[in-house]
Amino acid sequence: MNYSIVTPGICKAQCSFCIQETIVRKSPTYLDKLSEYLDTLVDDIERGFIDRKYVEINITGGEPTEYDRLADMLNILHQRKDYFNKIVMTTNGHYLIDNWDIISSIIDHLNISRHHYDDKVRRAIFGIKTISDDELKKITKLINDKTCQTKDITLIATVTKDYYLYMAFYQKFIEYCASIGSKCAFRKDYNMENWQVWSVANHYADRFPVLRIGECPVCRQIVTDVDGVNVTWKFSHKTPHKVIFDYERVFQPNGVAYYDWDCLYPVDIIDGRTLANLVENTVSEPYKLKFDEKTGCYL
Ligand code: SF4
Repeated sequence: MNYSIVTPGICKAQCSFCIQETIVRKSPTYLDKLSEYLDTLVDDIERGFIDRKYVEINITGGEPTEYDRLADMLNILHQRKDYFNKIVMTTNGHYLIDNWDIISSIIDHLNISRHHYDDKVRRAIFGIKTISDDELKKITKLINDKTCQTKDITLIATVTKDYYLYMAFYQKFIEYCASIGSKCAFRKDYNMENWQVWSVANHYADRFPVLRIGECPVCRQIVTDVDGVNVTWKFSHKTPHKVIFDYERVFQPNGVAYYDWDCLYPVDIIDGRTLANLVENTVSEPYKLKFDEKTGCYL
């Protein structure tokens, strides 16, 4: 189960494909509410309702490194770390160096949005300067030398038709990740019309040995070995989705947890069964949904 925590730090980047706009007001008691929320989760784990080995905490935003109380937030998570399988942070790396000591002592896995191998193009995509390649190399060296809690780093490119319509781009981005010393991930953007570029990605990926395939009703990912680089190809739904409630909780800056990213279905108010009746086309047995190869969706 993915427990996403949206930090109140507002992202200064302006990626055109971004869906992670801050859609709710920040609660003045955000951290208190986060503590309460996590205590409920811990309670459920202790009572055996949830198995800790499936609990993954995913800190995202906005931009986590822009949050002025990030250290307090991470300490709240750290106090309960024995109840989580993994703590992941997804960031554009803007203030990663400034927060490195606290992040590297608590976060198990870092996803860094990178989007392109060329620095000039990257700046055009983000609209700001983010972490430099030299800084990233220093970080990956620390991680690979096992001098911190962070064990892995993945550079992520969102695949859009502006940049990834040709196979050569995939190869260059993978080579770029290899030069940094990181894993690599490509993910489809959330534009439901952009299947052409995603089929180019799949066509490229088909040539390499598959290490692992992960599928659930909200996400499909294939992990390949591309000349020694671990490369993930990922498509996931922007929620709400008819069976999302079985896989995801999203704690928003207003201090409320939802089943979805659009703040439509609060966990405290709607139980899973009621939600199932609310969401269009809901089926009672999600695993019987049919996976459509062409669109990468469950239908
Ligand atoms: S860096 Fe991430 S959160 Fe920020 S605008 Fe780009 S996609 Fe959105």
